[in-house]
Amino acid sequence: MAETEAIALRATAYGESDWIVTLLGAHGGKIRGIARGARKSRKRFGAGFDPGTRGTLSFRVQPRSELATIEGFGNARPPALGPDPVAGFAVVNVAVECCDAVSVEDEDAARRFTLLSELLAHVADGASPAVTLAWFLAALLADAGFAPRFDRCVRCERPVGNRARFDAARVALVCASCTGEAPVASVSAEIAARIAALTPASRDVEAARTTVDLLGAAC
Ligand SMILES: [Zn+2]
Repeated sequence: MAETEAIALRATAYGESDWIVTLLGAHGGKIRGIARGARKSRKRFGAGFDPGTRGTLSFRVQPRSELATIEGFGNARPPALGPDPVAGFAVVNVAVECCDAVSVEDEDAARRFTLLSELLAHVADGASPAVTLAWFLAALLADAGFAPRFDRCVRCERPVGNRARFDAARVALVCASCTGEAPVASVSAEIAARIAALTPASRDVEAARTTVDLLGAAC
């Protein structure tokens, strides 16, 4: 049996009493498995598998199945949603959905696990939801091999100017002279500079909202 710290990404009801669950492990990347009887018995899976729930996952890999058998989810605790639970809930849900979208099974996702843990801590501490999510999406996409860029045109490397377009496929801005085939949004040079300067401690909610709109489309 294997064991790892893990954060629940999603749970789907299966049959009369089971959950099919997806988690991100500190080791082993994304783990998909079946938690038998989890909807009837609260013994082994007391806290459930709501998105963002963190605990110690025990599971067995099944050689002839895509799904592992989930044996337990010890010390599991649902995410603390901070002073604005509705906004906190929304941020946690978008974050775990994006994590699910960029993750595969059997990979080293330790860095991604740390990012998601940090996001949950920021939400619990009452950080600005938009800023937290903007920071998280940029870091997640950078970790997944994209490097979100907002300072210069991804094609010609010149400053983006005032009529830049966001290229969702490349997660970067394209200047007006090199406008790509798949632009989804216009971004001013001023807001692009503010996006490039975002950190988790930033208070620039407008820049953060724009980032979430742009990067959410890229996930
Ligand atoms: Zn260009």
